[in-house]
Amino acid sequence: AAVARAGAAPGAVELAGLVKRYPNGTLAVDGVNLRIPPGSYCCLLGPSGCGKTTTLRMIAGHEEPSEGEILIDGANVVGQPPRARGTAMMFQSYALFPHLSVRDNVAFSLRVRGVGRAERLREADRVIEQVQLTALATRLPGQLSGGQQQRVALARAIITRPRVLLLDEPLSALDEFLRLQMRAELKAMQQQLGITFIHVTHTQLEAVAVADQVVVMADGGIRQAATARAIYTQPDSAYVARFMGGQNVLSGVVETSEGGIATLRGPGGAGYVLRIGTQAMPVGRTVAFAVRRDRVRPATDGAPNSITGQVRAVEYQGTFVKVTLVAPAGDFVAYVDEGAYFRAPVALGSTASFGWDMDEAHQLTTE
Ligand code: ATP
Repeated sequence: AAVARAGAAPGAVELAGLVKRYPNGTLAVDGVNLRIPPGSYCCLLGPSGCGKTTTLRMIAGHEEPSEGEILIDGANVVGQPPRARGTAMMFQSYALFPHLSVRDNVAFSLRVRGVGRAERLREADRVIEQVQLTALATRLPGQLSGGQQQRVALARAIITRPRVLLLDEPLSALDEFLRLQMRAELKAMQQQLGITFIHVTHTQLEAVAVADQVVVMADGGIRQAATARAIYTQPDSAYVARFMGGQNVLSGVVETSEGGIATLRGPGGAGYVLRIGTQAMPVGRTVAFAVRRDRVRPATDGAPNSITGQVRAVEYQGTFVKVTLVAPAGDFVAYVDEGAYFRAPVALGSTASFGWDMDEAHQLTTE
């Protein structure tokens, strides 16, 4: 088994220079560096093909990296068999054996490890209690609800007392209602167990709902790794802002830059004032920034930090109304609080302006 270095807390995962080239030449993971604190909930989030599953499979030991190190509690586990890594993979609930009881399904991981029957069942009962299925232990999976089956899958994964639990799209087979319920249960279980969870998903709202650290991946690399809140409020790049959604991505050419504030000229002559870092920006450079759709308010045409355009769509969304403008800068979307909207509705095809406070604009440093 991987021997922890003295002082390292259990469940710490570090990926260093991780690369995976498949034999067919596909570069699936291209130099990933990431630290996952022990006992935390990490989500690898990205579109199909970005390399998140390959990354997870390398941590599990189902795939060997072409380059780089995987440190679990400070020890490099590359080359070690999956069972020696202190990790476990939670599979979808449909991977349960239909002819085995809940108890036997859960005990199965220990059976394949050669643990005796009495101890297997004792351990199975322990984790079945943790996932609150004791009353259903003798049932077959087919006699359980989808959510209960998912909890059996979780119990089966944690019976080997992993320090790190790996979950590959754990909720994708569930219907919408169950998915939201199980999402909350996974988060609660992670906190109760106190072990590290690494959860792969392509769904933004799933990642931000559960994760302490959201890792946005694209093209085999990490675009940004941060808390859910920081990913939304301080995206590094236009890519992350667009992928997470809820943002308007705008840009302008620097006209002045002084004392941490730049003035920009945008498409159609729009004037923007943007807080920038301590470094002055060269006049003439194009700078991109993001403004959250829910942080804008009605404005007067031509005011600084505003956009004027023709109303192309008005969509009622319950708590807010989504208003889409066609402006010289492109489409601009405002989420208007529904009460405020009905006090001052806008007509389709009319001209409207929305503005924002300077501190609501966030500079994007890369594409
Ligand atoms: P998805 O959500 O679709 O599973 P993903 O982000 O998890 O996508 P990976 O499954 O890690 O992405 O795949 C990353 C890239 O590696 C893709 O281009 C994929 O086609 C390729 N790939 C994955 N597995 C293999 C394999 N065994 N052999 C060759 N190429 C592979």
